[in-house]
Amino acid sequence: MKILVIGSGGREHALAWKLAQSVKVQKVYVAPGNGGTALAPHLENLDISRPDELADFASANDIALTVVGPEAPLAAGIVNTFRARNLKIFGPTREAAQLESSKDFAKSFMERHGIPTAKYRTFTDAQQAHRYIDEQGAPIVVKADGLAAGKGVVVALTSQQAHDAVDMMLFDNKLGDAGARVVIEEFLEGEEASFIVLVDGKNILPLATSQDHKRLKDGDEGPNTGGMGAFSPAPVVTPALHARILREIIVPTVNGMRKDGIPYSGFLYAGVMIDRDGNPKTLEFNCRMGDPETQPILSRLKSDLAFVLEHAVNGTLDTVELEWDRRIALGVVLASAGYPENPQKGAVITGIPKASENGIVFHAGTRLDKEGKLLTSGGRVLCVVGLADTMRMAQKTAYDMVEAIHFEGVQYRHDIGWRALKPYKT
Ligand code: ATP
Repeated sequence: MKILVIGSGGREHALAWKLAQSVKVQKVYVAPGNGGTALAPHLENLDISRPDELADFASANDIALTVVGPEAPLAAGIVNTFRARNLKIFGPTREAAQLESSKDFAKSFMERHGIPTAKYRTFTDAQQAHRYIDEQGAPIVVKADGLAAGKGVVVALTSQQAHDAVDMMLFDNKLGDAGARVVIEEFLEGEEASFIVLVDGKNILPLATSQDHKRLKDGDEGPNTGGMGAFSPAPVVTPALHARILREIIVPTVNGMRKDGIPYSGFLYAGVMIDRDGNPKTLEFNCRMGDPETQPILSRLKSDLAFVLEHAVNGTLDTVELEWDRRIALGVVLASAGYPENPQKGAVITGIPKASENGIVFHAGTRLDKEGKLLTSGGRVLCVVGLADTMRMAQKTAYDMVEAIHFEGVQYRHDIGWRALKPYKT
């Protein structure tokens, strides 16, 4: 079979890499892909991005399954477009993707269905929002309702920061429509974990757990980023907690969407905060896999992903069991100089063959120039994944890979995995 993967990041490279390993798969097209997907065997980049053009390609080229990586095409309704043409695609419809594309939708959904989350109110009026912040005090979290590429969340440690965030979104309209409504919510303390499952409308199949590292600098300092590294599994999610997250968050979400007449299928990602007493609360939903969590998670998946996703689009996930490599996978992101504010592009990347001797190198912001030289082309450039029996060994493997790779101005964190090496700590 032939498969189409939509997107261009490290997550999509990992999806395409894993799908191409299936004995059932002859070819994986990646639209638009990156320098890594351009080079890999059985993968081919496609320079198209409009949903109707992608659907034309899928139907003209006998694509058996399309898998969507990022949230933007899902929120824009690519699944609706494909389904209307009877093309098989794995992901939520535009309506179901509101779990991620509207924080107000997600919060009121959680409230209605009794899913644990931070207390909140939604505002369109700046004066009312300011009054609420004065009543509640800091710390407090201000979130733009819509998709804002990671710039829509302000964790305000002082009331002033919260007031400024409200003005930025509701008064100065800095985030456009995405910030025309704001959700203001209670600050939650604890340790975060990423809990990602496959859903086929009804059945749920959990993937391995993972933890991301959102901040740019070591020790979780510096600005928020798309994610600077991740590991899988996450020891903070004990078997008991795993069962609770499924029972208290995931199952009521999938059932609630079905009851509300918007059945959910696709990857469903719950960002979960685990408090000091071990209670999970939902921070956010994403309607896709995480980047960089996908890279270590899929590095550990032994099952045939094409087979699994075929069952997912056919509504038969209840017949599938996943098999995992028992080792720990740890991914370190190598980012460009200036990331996240002003990433530099065009630096020559060397050392990938040497690094690949010890693990897997997933590409994100890379491209090939006319002579076939590999250049940086975005903020997050690569994610190297090392696998080993212990967290320390996985760390060592991944950082040996990092050492082998060079490009001008490279930035990376030196402490990916630190939480898993410490006793439980918030
Ligand atoms: P993502 O890029 O993960 O999709 P997003 O823009 O959708 O991010 P959230 O995930 O809701 O935003 O928030 C981003 C980060 O802000 C979270 O990973 C968490 O670290 C922090 N955060 C969000 N809500 C809260 C909260 N209520 N209390 C404490 N921290 C929070």
